[in-house]
Amino acid sequence: MSLSFGTDLSGKVAVVTGAGGVLCGMFAKTLAEAGAKVAVLDLNESAAEGIAASINEAGYKAKAYKANVLERASLEEVHAKVLAELGPCDILINGAGGNNARANTDKEYFEMGDIEADTKSFFDLDQSGVEFVFNLNFLGTLLPCQIFAKDMIGREGCSILNISSMNAFTPLTKIPAYSGAKAAISNFTQWLAVHFSKVGIRVNAIAPGFFVTAQNVKLLFNEDGSPTPRTNKILSATPMGRFGEAEELNGALLFLLNHAAAGFITGVVLPIDGGFSAYSGV
Ligand code: NAD
Repeated sequence: MSLSFGTDLSGKVAVVTGAGGVLCGMFAKTLAEAGAKVAVLDLNESAAEGIAASINEAGYKAKAYKANVLERASLEEVHAKVLAELGPCDILINGAGGNNARANTDKEYFEMGDIEADTKSFFDLDQSGVEFVFNLNFLGTLLPCQIFAKDMIGREGCSILNISSMNAFTPLTKIPAYSGAKAAISNFTQWLAVHFSKVGIRVNAIAPGFFVTAQNVKLLFNEDGSPTPRTNKILSATPMGRFGEAEELNGALLFLLNHAAAGFITGVVLPIDGGFSAYSGV
């Protein structure tokens, strides 16, 4: 029996949405280093081009595509180009996602007097903000699966990886829409895993815990570098007592995509969280 350490994705085509961003840009680079030809999809064309250029400069293979995960026509157009330029999709990473301030409450708890106070309470949440967050995360995962997974039917070693979150297991305060949308992604991951189980497509998700990235650093650290109150709460609820390093997601990414190592794994949502989701707080 050979042990399946190391993930060789030579000959595979990986489509990564949101790949102009922090985490999925890194995933795109990791997949390319593992040998895949990577389609770098993002609404932000210049961000996608920057990631693809850095991959190609390093001697690996990538191509940037402007794509909107919320528009079927945009995805179909990109799918046709990927098919012609790189080949059929073997791996789909649904990374495009995120939150929006219009769907957040200002405070963790609703208190007497908040309706009159100058604070955005639950009662002030903006419907269009909630719809934006649900659509971006949930529909923005479902539609790319509809477009790209058709390439995978009946072919060996194909899989889909969705990006859920800690807030899918237990909602985080202030962000009801993002928490609900990520819970929907975890649920959909299981649904699609079952649905595709007879045609050779594995469907899994990772649920990252807390990682300091460009877009959340201001929430987590003050200008002088000291931790914010939210950082103290996060770290005291993380048994390992630290934030994750983005690179610590790569092992799970490669493992779940490695058919030799994870060929019997489908429908899981793997937390990568320093123990956050296992800890009751007591
Ligand atoms: P990011 O904001 O750096 O990247 C998201 C990318 O998605 C951006 O490049 C953006 O242009 C793109 N995008 C937005 N709308 C799009 C659309 N309609 N079509 C195509 N592309 C679109 O975010 P990130 O931190 O790298 O997060 C990536 C994924 O990981 C997201 O799904 C996020 O919810 C999830 N996540 C992040 C963390 C974290 O700590 N950063 C934790 C848990 C889960």
